[in-house]
Amino acid sequence: MRIPGLKSLKRSTRWLRSRFVDGVLILGYHRVAAVTADPYSICVTPQHFAEQLEVLHRYTQLLSLRELVQRLQEGKLPRRAVCLTFDDGYADNLYHAKPLLERYRIPATVFVASGYVGGEFWWDELARLLLSPATLPGRLLLSLSEASYEWLSGYNPALALEREAPNSRQGLLQSLYKRLLPLSDADRQQALAQLSAWAAVELAPSPHCRALTAHELIELARGSLVDIGAHSVTHPVLTNLPAGEQRFQILQSKMSLEKLLHQPVICFAYPNGLASPMTRALTEAAGFTCACTSFNDIVWSGSDRFHLPRFWPSDWEGAKFSRWLAKWLRA
Ligand SMILES: [Zn+2]
Repeated sequence: MRIPGLKSLKRSTRWLRSRFVDGVLILGYHRVAAVTADPYSICVTPQHFAEQLEVLHRYTQLLSLRELVQRLQEGKLPRRAVCLTFDDGYADNLYHAKPLLERYRIPATVFVASGYVGGEFWWDELARLLLSPATLPGRLLLSLSEASYEWLSGYNPALALEREAPNSRQGLLQSLYKRLLPLSDADRQQALAQLSAWAAVELAPSPHCRALTAHELIELARGSLVDIGAHSVTHPVLTNLPAGEQRFQILQSKMSLEKLLHQPVICFAYPNGLASPMTRALTEAAGFTCACTSFNDIVWSGSDRFHLPRFWPSDWEGAKFSRWLAKWLRA
């Protein structure tokens, strides 16, 4: 495939090649999709993803997460190596990411939140409720089990959200996301029901912004390139939960994915990248061989395989991705 800006790409990748050091870079993605709105900045367009894969294919050694962990345990990390992962289990991983991974023969691990298979992630539901209506009421009162919260959007409640700066709904979305994130699944569902009634949203969940169905998940796992890992059941902040609930989230996601796929699920990614020492111990005890976090670093020979760091590429074209890669690999 021809890549726009290939000349500058070649210059920066030459530099990249000279700077690469021992150690492996794990990249984390969420969605590969061309969208009109990306409120959480988790989408990379198929075009940009293809350009990023082209850079990786030409100048790095690509290995699967399973292989990386094996090499880590043997103390034989390869040079110029990169490993790809995806979090959550979006349907576009099958329709947009997998064909490109196949084109370049690049392996990847997709971490799936098993309780969302065939459904809409809570953060996408929140965005749909807040961003899709033409108008929203100016006052929001949200009653949660621990407290009630009120948002006033301006001096004129009837018009306020429309009259505020264009990003005011984005601000409300960020504020509510932070408030809903630490809640239990039941409390979060209750909050979303209140928000749905308040916003009077008629728009159904988007067929383009959803989790893989069971059938699609089986299709994604078919072949030797894509490995499925677990990512909890309901995507909670595990560190907020007592040990028993953490154990359930970690073990149940593994068991239900193994039942569906008829293959061992041995890699885990902590939801929101967060893990306490107890979370780590429970993950190892559940039979996983490794777990990924979200903090940025390179995997070194002494890295903890249950605390693997990752980087999160943005929606960059190939040349910019190449320069970004060089910056991190210079250390
Ligand atoms: Zn996630």
